[in-house]
Amino acid sequence: MKQTDIAIIGGGPGGLAAAQYGARAGRDVLIIEKLAAGGQTMLIDRIENYPGFDEAITGFELADKMQRQAENFGAKLLYDELVSIKKDDKYFEVNLKSETVQAKTVIIATGAKHRVLDIDGEATYSGKGVSYCGTCDGPFFRNKTIYVIGGGDTALTDALYLSKLSDDVTLVHRRDRFRAQDNLVRQISASKIKTMMNFKPVSIKGDGTKVTAIELESTVDGQHVTKPTSAVFIFAGMLPQTEMLDKELLDKTGYVMTNDRMETKMPGLFAIGDVRNTPFRQVVTAAADGAVAAHIASEYIDEIEGNAYASH
Ligand code: NAP
Repeated sequence: MKQTDIAIIGGGPGGLAAAQYGARAGRDVLIIEKLAAGGQTMLIDRIENYPGFDEAITGFELADKMQRQAENFGAKLLYDELVSIKKDDKYFEVNLKSETVQAKTVIIATGAKHRVLDIDGEATYSGKGVSYCGTCDGPFFRNKTIYVIGGGDTALTDALYLSKLSDDVTLVHRRDRFRAQDNLVRQISASKIKTMMNFKPVSIKGDGTKVTAIELESTVDGQHVTKPTSAVFIFAGMLPQTEMLDKELLDKTGYVMTNDRMETKMPGLFAIGDVRNTPFRQVVTAAADGAVAAHIASEYIDEIEGNAYASH
């Protein structure tokens, strides 16, 4: 059975940062990744808010740099899929599809997926006007027409953010009441954002290279309207990737609960980045979580092994 000090489940920016910090602290680090290192970052065309890159970098390049940095410090990448995690008195048994790994600590960095609407044109124009992240892509649509879909906290928060970039923002919600907190609803009412209640998107249209319009259907009388737009921001909720974890570790919305040391309820088990109950989901916050988790995981290993002093 493979053995490691720190097993990291997920090779996105959080996992790669944790790997770098863990390996640099002299720990054996194994990153377990299902598909390709980089996670959702790989889908981002231009990242212009990651500190230190004054000229935008592609998600692919940033992920590649993070992976090489982690590997240069000695972290190993294993392509496999997590099935379950069990803990005996001291160590974790990380059951993967192809093998089992024994780990002293485990860091969950599996991320969260945006819920998609699954309507015509959504996948075709993803990254070409269809976006799931206001702070990432909003600046590309400065002074353009923008439609925002959803009635939760994220939709309203991002609509408010986008309204600083454009005077032509419309918020579309399928019911007559927003799900979001009252103070956000009040801010929307006081803003220049237009609202279309009781409408749901049915298709996104484009010219082959970019979004040109959105088709909406009234949830009251079924009437269809088509509105010209440059961008459609979709905030239909998130799906944290936690199916393989014990439900006791999760909050009621399915995210892993941690403290500010990234510790879960189970000693030695950590969670970082989009999969944890964090107020802000960005590459930089995932990376910072990774650094904290690797540091605390390293201290934890010293504790269970009876080392008097952790020197990292
Ligand atoms: P959410 O609360 O699940 O809201 C998703 C929204 O998308 C709902 O309004 C839902 O409509 C709508 N929706 C879902 N499927 C749809 C579809 N097929 N077509 C049209 N609309 C659809 O998700 P969220 O806003 O991302 O928030 C997730 C969690 O993060 C929440 O617990 C939230 O409180 C928290 N959060 C907090 C803050 C903050 O505190 N500032 C900011 C962001 C997020 P219905 O309402 O009709 O179901």
